[in-house]
Amino acid sequence: MTKAEYVKKGKCIWCLKVKPEVEFYTKPHTIPKTLNPNNIGFDICDSCNNYFGSDDKLSKVTFAIDKVLKEFFNVHKFLLINKKDSNSWKNFRSQFFSYYHTSKTLKINVDYIRNAPYANELTRKFKRGIYNIFLQEYHRTTQLGLDNKFERIREFVRFDNGELPLYYLKSNNGIRLMGDLEAPFELSFNDNVLKTLEEFGYYHLSMNGLNFFIAATNKADSNMEYLINQGRELIGSGFVYTGLIELKRLNEIDFTLRNWK
Ligand SMILES: [Zn+2]
Repeated sequence: MTKAEYVKKGKCIWCLKVKPEVEFYTKPHTIPKTLNPNNIGFDICDSCNNYFGSDDKLSKVTFAIDKVLKEFFNVHKFLLINKKDSNSWKNFRSQFFSYYHTSKTLKINVDYIRNAPYANELTRKFKRGIYNIFLQEYHRTTQLGLDNKFERIREFVRFDNGELPLYYLKSNNGIRLMGDLEAPFELSFNDNVLKTLEEFGYYHLSMNGLNFFIAATNKADSNMEYLINQGRELIGSGFVYTGLIELKRLNEIDFTLRNWK
C-alpha cells in the first residue's frame, strides 16, 4: 500500500522545494487542529509542517508558531464561553495567560510583558501564525499559494525574515459580535474577498469578534487608503469598535472582562 501524500502541485508553498528533495506525508492542518480539525491542506512539505508545529529550544520564545496562535485563540474562546458558563474558568489552563476569577480579568503572564525582547518576539510569532494560516488556507481554497506575490509572506513566516504588519480593530469595552463558539474557525475566500485581495492586497480575518487585517501582497503598501476606509466603516459610530491599530504588542488586544456584564 502506498502512503497518502498531501500534494496537488507537488511543490511546497513555503520552501518551494519539490519531491524527492522534500516529502509530503504529514497531514497538514491549515489551521491549528484544536481550532479547526477538518481543514487539511496540501503542498506543505513535512519539513515545513514540522517547523511550524515544533517548539524551538534555541529561540527566545521557544513555543511553536502553531502553539502561540492556538493558545491565543483558545483563550479568547474561553472568555466568551466563560460568560455563559460561570464555572468553566476552573478548567482553564494556559501557558501564557492567568485568569483572575474575582476580578474577571485575564492577564498575559507578567514576564511576557515586562521582558520587552520576549514580548516583541511573542508578538512576532503570533503575527507569523496569522500569515501562516492565511497562505495555507488560501492555497487550500484556490491552489494559487505558490504565486510570486506571496514571496514576502514566505520569507516572514517560514524564514523569519523581514517584517509584515498586522492591523487590529480595537473593540469598545470588550463588546464582541460573536458567531457560534463551537463552530470550527474558518477563513473566508468568497469572490468578494478574492477581489479585494487582488485589487488592494489586504485580507480581513475575523473570528468571534476579533478582527485583523493583513497586508497579504505588496499591493497593500500603496492602498493604505483602502484599509483606513474599511476601518472607518467598521467603526461607524464607535459603539462596537473604536479604532484600527497596527499591532505592536500582543497585550494591545483587550482581554479584560470587567465591562462585559
Ligand atoms: Zn517546505
